[in-house]
Amino acid sequence: MTFAVHGLPVARGIAIGRAVLVVSSRINVSHYFVESHQAEAEVDRVRAARDAVAEELQRLQASVALMGPSEAPHELAALLEVHLMLLQDEALTSGVKHWIIERLYNAEWALTTQLEVIARQFDEMEDEYLRERKADLEQVVERMLRHMRGTAAAVAPPPPRRKSSFGPDDSDTPLTGSDSMDVPLVLIAHDLSPADMLQFKKSVFAGFVTDVGGRTSHTAIIARSMDIPAVVGARLASQLVRQDDWVIIDGDAGVMIVDPSPIILAEYGFKQRQGEVERERLWRLRHKLAVTLDGQRVDLLANIELPEDTVGAMKAGAVGVGLFRSEFLFMGREAKRLTRMPDEEEQYQAYRRAVEGMHGMPVTIRTIDVGADKPLDSKAAREENHLNPALGLRAIRWSLADPAMFLAQLRAILRAAVHGEVNLLIPMLAHGHEIHQTLSLIALARGELEGRGVPFGHVKLGAMIEIPAAALTLKLFLKHFDFLSIGTNDLIQYTLAIDRTDEAVAHLYDPAHPAVLGLIADTIAECVRQGKGVSVCGEMAGDVQFTRLLLGLGLRSFSMHPSQILAVKQEVLRADAGKLVGWAREVLASEDPAALLALPR
Ligand code: PEP
Ligand code: MG
Repeated sequence: MTFAVHGLPVARGIAIGRAVLVVSSRINVSHYFVESHQAEAEVDRVRAARDAVAEELQRLQASVALMGPSEAPHELAALLEVHLMLLQDEALTSGVKHWIIERLYNAEWALTTQLEVIARQFDEMEDEYLRERKADLEQVVERMLRHMRGTAAAVAPPPPRRKSSFGPDDSDTPLTGSDSMDVPLVLIAHDLSPADMLQFKKSVFAGFVTDVGGRTSHTAIIARSMDIPAVVGARLASQLVRQDDWVIIDGDAGVMIVDPSPIILAEYGFKQRQGEVERERLWRLRHKLAVTLDGQRVDLLANIELPEDTVGAMKAGAVGVGLFRSEFLFMGREAKRLTRMPDEEEQYQAYRRAVEGMHGMPVTIRTIDVGADKPLDSKAAREENHLNPALGLRAIRWSLADPAMFLAQLRAILRAAVHGEVNLLIPMLAHGHEIHQTLSLIALARGELEGRGVPFGHVKLGAMIEIPAAALTLKLFLKHFDFLSIGTNDLIQYTLAIDRTDEAVAHLYDPAHPAVLGLIADTIAECVRQGKGVSVCGEMAGDVQFTRLLLGLGLRSFSMHPSQILAVKQEVLRADAGKLVGWAREVLASEDPAALLALPR
């Protein structure tokens, strides 16, 4: 039966494929495709883990049998029996094998996928006793995963093989994750952490849907950077869809259609082809300079999460990187069994790769912005759940609380500047004393490198304007920094007191609120007045609804996902910046700027 689930549109386009449900992030595993010749080895890993857990449980049974009833109650023996039964259940074994052999999922992914299938069956059982066995099954699977962590993966996750973001002639990037898999897959989850998303970035999904999340949550931001249709905040999506269901994701409307009828499929197939035609048309703009009708040059820069993203940035015609979210180098390391933090050398190599990847164009590296919805690992996420992390120890606050870590990052960035033009950007500053402390640490990092005789380059220093307090004390910021970058995602969140990750208040998250526009306008105007660089690197920069307004406010530097650059360039090419100035003033003065923005111009 066909039905639709509504959520928030995050990334444009239509995806049609089979649903891959990912279990809760409580059981956090890697997801990647293996080659067909590696599948048997993956099945063996699962088998070995099952046998090891069976032995473990049998040993426990034997020791329980030797204890008296006071030490080991009767229930314990019964529970062990149940766990053994679940472990040896044919549904688990054959299901896992199916996902590995037929779909080429890695062993951990196959196991958690089958866990999700069986757990769903338990949920639907009438008998309460049987329903409660779901928790036992989860425990059994967790035991198996622990064993699998102890055994090296039969294969390393393959290099990125995702559909590249740009253009029809991207022939150097294969389109599918596995040669034997031609059915597109779409990812459905209750929630995905940004670190999870980073893993998916390296695999192939044609689209994704989550139950929770807001439009500018970091999970959504990464989805946008993958340039695949996505919907967040779809509430019960993960409960309504079943593993392997056919679904359509409409990223423009924020809707998911489950089990579509042939007529609906045909309609969306048509829309999908229209989208492809539009992309091909935009693709022709990639070598064109972004200049307005009245000759104003506009810099369209890329936001990236990893050094490899510079490939997409170059292809899209970015003239530099305006925001390298360096925190993604620090995240998801638990799953890869790496040390908790990348050290100076590892970071230096990563920044250097990004700089070299841009072939002489500037790269703005933002120092680590963890906290809020970007915890370093899943354990931290669980521990911090009860706090309000967006107002907590995040970004520069976190860096200043751990100067040794911060100094290592600063040294790595300064060293990377030997290889090209690097700008150093500091997130979430609000106080004068934070600015002073940061500048002292930068000076100290330079001094340390000098002392060690290690070469380093010159960097321009920038601050993000993403807290209203910063936007209201611009003179202080401009006294100390060479340029400012407006982080509209957080500026909106903190100006309107709206958690950007919370779908329940997503309707109040309004980039066109007069207060938000006022702070953006003042920041641009003050920088222009003082002859300092200013750019917008939040999601507003890549949203074509705002291109003309930002041009009219005097902005000439926009940083966004590479996938958005061509659409924004098209707007720039059609705009007369001079004529937009008066109109932008009208928008700012309006009680309802959104209504004016919606009018055709
Ligand atoms: C922002 O806040 O607009 C921004 C670019 O930073 P992030 O989205 O990483 O918080
Ligand atoms: Mg921010």
